[in-house]
Amino acid sequence: MSHSIREACGVCGGWAEDQPMAYLACFALYALQHRGQESAGIAVGTGDGGKMWLKKGPGLVSEVFPDTEELKQLPGPLALGHVRYAYSGEGRGPENSQPLLLRYRHGELAIAHNGRLVNGARLREELAEQGAIFQTETDSELLGHLIARQNNPCLEEAVAAAVSRLEGAFAFILCDGKKIIGLRDRHGFRPLSLARLGEKGYFLASETCAFDTIGAQFIRDVAPGEAVVIDDGGIRSYQVLPPAQPSLCLFEFIYFARPDSNLQGKNVHLMRRELGRRLAREHPVDADMVTGVPDSSIAAASGYAEEAGLPYEMALVKNRYIGRTFLRPTQRMREEGVDLKLNAVEKIVRDKRVIIVDDSIVRGTTSVKLVRLMRRAGAREVHLRISSPPVIDACLYGIDMPASQELVARRYKIADIARELGADSIGYLSLEETVAAVGLPGEGLCRACFTGLYTIR
Ligand code: AMP
Repeated sequence: MSHSIREACGVCGGWAEDQPMAYLACFALYALQHRGQESAGIAVGTGDGGKMWLKKGPGLVSEVFPDTEELKQLPGPLALGHVRYAYSGEGRGPENSQPLLLRYRHGELAIAHNGRLVNGARLREELAEQGAIFQTETDSELLGHLIARQNNPCLEEAVAAAVSRLEGAFAFILCDGKKIIGLRDRHGFRPLSLARLGEKGYFLASETCAFDTIGAQFIRDVAPGEAVVIDDGGIRSYQVLPPAQPSLCLFEFIYFARPDSNLQGKNVHLMRRELGRRLAREHPVDADMVTGVPDSSIAAASGYAEEAGLPYEMALVKNRYIGRTFLRPTQRMREEGVDLKLNAVEKIVRDKRVIIVDDSIVRGTTSVKLVRLMRRAGAREVHLRISSPPVIDACLYGIDMPASQELVARRYKIADIARELGADSIGYLSLEETVAAVGLPGEGLCRACFTGLYTIR
């Protein structure tokens, strides 16, 4: 039986008659590249339901679309883009690149998604028993089958009926060559925002940083359970799913989102700096300097330094030409990746007591390496400070987390983790302080990886 794969991807798409949409979608994907580096793709619609253009493939946006001029020439007011992040062995095949372009009775359908269904495997099995053929392991294909089965020429109605079968975390963008539909699950686990583009156009993206890149003006976040339809008639919105307890992913704030994005109106960088300040108050330690792990922890580390009254030093330098280590599939490759990726600066840290601020510890692979690098460079003491609580459970909603037994906070008691990682001390920010730094009600955030309490499973 195949399982739906874990994905925390990036999606974007929009409609505008006066804009080079394929070209803009490509730049929006550049801005969303941190959300997935495994594959990239763009579908373009003619606006009248004519044959859609699709290009996708493995690799970075720059590798899949080396010629952006070609995109500029593509006619069509509709575009839909996707970057994919899949870490498990299954699901890494090229057939899982998105957008998917499906043909069914009522025409063509391009689908891209971010998230993970909790009932994906069950639904697949049910459809397969009835004879459905799956060519990919994506939740997008599952949605495509469910839409086709509605046998309804009205895409909005078919989508509404199809998504009512889905449980879990999803942000979908669909295009039938005439319109774009963007929608979020009823808990709003994964982000999706809406912006104005050009005179009469609109654009949707997983993160607001994509809007800045293409000159679109943020309007609002798509609401949990809401579907937004964009075409030459303008924009319409309908509630496809009854809204439930909002549950936006807290890990988006801590690690995943780009610092220049705003999630639910909160700027990610400022919020991470606040995490660092609170971390300094909760876990102070005598030291000579603070350093962050580039790039995701720099904001928190600067907040820590500011609050502690210690100098912030660039004691760790990252080779920016190497991708996120986490994206490498095997432990060995991950370990090799960290070595290649980071260097400790001896002239800065020799004989010093160093505080390393990182945004999270998952398996502990990165921390072990960091401490080792620091000691090799001559640091006298190495203190780890983590701007989030211990990760104790896997994510069911699309963030790539290993199975629980691989999590360092599961394998050891907190008191023993510093020793296991080779550090002189460790301090994790409490969940209360983490939520307080975000500044949104805790019940409105998904905290399952820190608590083991899942909204749905
Ligand atoms: P680990 O080395 O397994 O402890 O992973 C923790 C490191 O990877 C931290 O430095 C984080 O910045 C980063 N990280 C945490 N969660 C993820 C994730 N889901 N995907 C990619 N990187 C992550």
